[in-house]
Amino acid sequence: MSLYCGIAWRRKSFWCYRLLSTYVTKTRYLFELKEDDDACKIAWRTGAFYLFHSLAPLLQKSEHQYLAPQHSLSELERLLGKFGQDTQRIEDSVLIGCSEQHQAWFALDLRLNSPSSINASLQKLEMEAELKGSFTELRKALFKLNIKDASLLSTAWALLRWHDNHKFCSRSGQPTKKNMAGSKRVCPSNKIIYYPQMAPVVITLVSDGTRCLLARQSSFPEGMYSALAGFCDIGESLEEAVRREVAEEVGLEVESLQYSASQHWPFPSSSLMIACHAVVKPGQTEIQVNTRELEAAAWFSLDEVATALRRKGPYAQEQDGTFPFWLPPKLAIAHQLIKEWVEKQSFSSPSA
Ligand SMILES: [Zn+2]
Repeated sequence: MSLYCGIAWRRKSFWCYRLLSTYVTKTRYLFELKEDDDACKIAWRTGAFYLFHSLAPLLQKSEHQYLAPQHSLSELERLLGKFGQDTQRIEDSVLIGCSEQHQAWFALDLRLNSPSSINASLQKLEMEAELKGSFTELRKALFKLNIKDASLLSTAWALLRWHDNHKFCSRSGQPTKKNMAGSKRVCPSNKIIYYPQMAPVVITLVSDGTRCLLARQSSFPEGMYSALAGFCDIGESLEEAVRREVAEEVGLEVESLQYSASQHWPFPSSSLMIACHAVVKPGQTEIQVNTRELEAAAWFSLDEVATALRRKGPYAQEQDGTFPFWLPPKLAIAHQLIKEWVEKQSFSSPSA
């Protein structure tokens, strides 16, 4: 991020001591676009744009999945012209990545500042007809997109939303200015720089050695149980956050923990989900549910969890009024964490 780094790299590129990997050159290219507004504008010319309307991405439905169409700069300029918008609106776009061939990808929200909401929704319908797609709520479509598009659109959604919520400096109240790539906003009056942020969330799968602890919040769909989750408090390390969350939510003390993986989750306001396995202290098995946080929590056997992992939705109500026990979908990091635990347990207990 430092200025020194940027300069050193530019100097070095003249000499080209060694061939940089595709990943490194791509990363350096994106860095350049974030730091240099003119370079970013040049990248628009060969770039591809993903379109949104009020944070809903433009998608096309194909059989059981959604596709996210890309548009070139000239297509976008034509569209803006047709709907009476200034082509300067392109400056509101945000950089969300690039291809290995350095085609930069951007996202732009076409929401109109129309005084009448009837006009705005009419124009949205006209745009959808013109673009042969529909502006679809990302929450509904996320699991029906391929992994690349799901990740790009999540980033775009989070970044567009962040800009929309940070238009003013929190110290001076003055309007802040976005850089061309959208990697920061600056207050012109006091020069404060605002960077897009994610809130760290720990997601912990607690085990007592043979069973695992799963819980549900009242907001979960009926029957679904997941790992414990909670925001890190300010000043806490990851380890401290896991220990506190487990104590707070189920009244147990963690003895050891192991990091597993992390995932960005855009809703409701960009979290970095940090997934961990935790083992409770010996003899700590009596759960005391904190009902302000959870609706229920229980220990589940390897067999019960392995069966639930294999179960496929939709999960209809049984005749006795109960719902079957099921787990978060594959793309969710909680699913991966639970799957990892099942694999580890099955490996270590040959009887299972
Ligand atoms: Zn300010």
